[in-house]
Amino acid sequence: MTGLVIVGHGTRSAAGVDQFAALVERVRRRGDTGDVEGGFIELSRPPLTDAVGALVARGHRALVALPLVLTAAGHGKGDIPAAMAREQERHPGLTYRYGRPLGPHPLLHDALEQRIDAALAGADRADTALSGADRADTWVALIGRGSTDPDANAEVAKVARLLWEGRGYAGVEPGFVSLAQPSVPAVLERLRLLGARRIVVAPYFLFAGVLPDRIVAQSAEFAAAHPDLDVRVAEVIGDCDALADLVRERYAEALGGDIRMNCDTCAYRVLMPGFADKVGRPQRPHDHPDDPVGHHHHHGHDHDHHHDHGSVAVVGGGPGPDDLITVRGKALLDAADVVVVDRLAPQGLLAGLRPDVLVVDAAKVPRGPSMAQEAINAALVSHARAGRRVVRLKGGDPYVFGRGHEEVQACAAAGVPVTVVPGVSSAIAAPALAGVPVTHRGVAHDVTVVSGHLPPGHPDSLVDWAALARARGTVVLLMAVDTIAKIASVLIEHGRAPETPVLAVQDAGQPDQLSLPARLDEIGALAAREEIRPPAVFVVGPVVALSTTGPTL
Ligand code: SAH
Repeated sequence: MTGLVIVGHGTRSAAGVDQFAALVERVRRRGDTGDVEGGFIELSRPPLTDAVGALVARGHRALVALPLVLTAAGHGKGDIPAAMAREQERHPGLTYRYGRPLGPHPLLHDALEQRIDAALAGADRADTALSGADRADTWVALIGRGSTDPDANAEVAKVARLLWEGRGYAGVEPGFVSLAQPSVPAVLERLRLLGARRIVVAPYFLFAGVLPDRIVAQSAEFAAAHPDLDVRVAEVIGDCDALADLVRERYAEALGGDIRMNCDTCAYRVLMPGFADKVGRPQRPHDHPDDPVGHHHHHGHDHDHHHDHGSVAVVGGGPGPDDLITVRGKALLDAADVVVVDRLAPQGLLAGLRPDVLVVDAAKVPRGPSMAQEAINAALVSHARAGRRVVRLKGGDPYVFGRGHEEVQACAAAGVPVTVVPGVSSAIAAPALAGVPVTHRGVAHDVTVVSGHLPPGHPDSLVDWAALARARGTVVLLMAVDTIAKIASVLIEHGRAPETPVLAVQDAGQPDQLSLPARLDEIGALAAREEIRPPAVFVVGPVVALSTTGPTL
């Protein structure tokens, strides 16, 4: 049977550690979850590495790892998987299935209800049935841990609602003991203003700990300041059969079920207002005092995770407007420590960066001074090696004449983690913004994107201009302002009709976007006369005749 490792966060409270151990023992006694061990990722003994080590020593190579957390925040989403990844490094071949966080779950709501009822009844009449009238006069402040992760806080709000539904309390309001609002005193004051006379403060916590103690203290302080109110604090959920049942359910689900975390609202994955810095953040394991790799620095539980490992994202910024970058690109940009930017990348996006972000201008102005590609590559590598999150922001798509892959190769060769985020290429977008589709049913079934930076006949040219001339589809020319006259005549020479329509699109997507239509045999002279300048693309082919007027801004 697949072994189960129950993973706790760790606490400075001896009572909390005892309750965790008692729960592990309770699950073990049930005997239907195979071999069971429990371990903590920080603060408390035993460390996770001992728990996993014990299971491996007994022959297990496949485990269920169940995070013993109520809501998925940083611990469930990042720290525990990071700690398990470290165990996999230690035990090659070890695999594990990761269980879902415990809440929200009816078993927990029932347990909370019992704790609230016990508080209402008073310790001496814990098993006395309460009358409906008791609940109708009772407001509940459900107090969660609180997190910098809005998704986790939203879970507490959801549990508050579910706890209210059908149970007859006057109301249930969520609050948080740390990192989120409303605080314990704030939610109690809110309930007082709503007219509450009797309040049960229910900690939404599994076990005893520093934070549940703080809930008790803050509630007592509020009660002392408001002697006319009846304020009581319920027990934490604690080691109980309901919790053991839930652990078994999560174990079975991890083995056979379709596990879905609430990824839709995960701040590590989705850009949420105010939390851009979390998107895509690498997760690093906590240091456990008893875990040999963890001794190099000890940190308190300050939620300040350390990111020693830098990375580079080569991001396509789109053709120019701020809102034509991808959502992923924007999220990485918002999380960046350093942005190395090209002149053709959307400059407007730089205004939105945090003031502490280092912006490196890698402008490669045509015919002007340029920062050698080598120097750009070296800058990317050195910033990443210094532990920074580097975004290389480029115009259009990084892999369309952007030299993006050279940068990726340089990072990879240096052992720096690197990713590419595709972008909207000007090759497709500039024609579109000028009302021209690069393909159209019955008109053009092919489109070729060509660099015009070398004129036809140049010894280094890799373009078969004669073949492009013979083809009938669309040709989009980039970097061709200086070479368009030569290119047009070579295309005509090898078979394109002189009257083939061409559209020059300059500064696509910008307020001063300019479109210049011409015949293929005129475009060279016309572009020179009208002083078409970079950045511009030339679209050649019958699709140009389909143009609808004007840019679509
Ligand atoms: N990687 C970029 C292209 C880099 S080459 C992309 O995918 O778009 C630079 C050329 O792109 C310019 O010379 C010009 O031909 C074209 N270009 C980029 N932005 C443009 C814009 N806003 N309007 C017109 N052409 C543009």
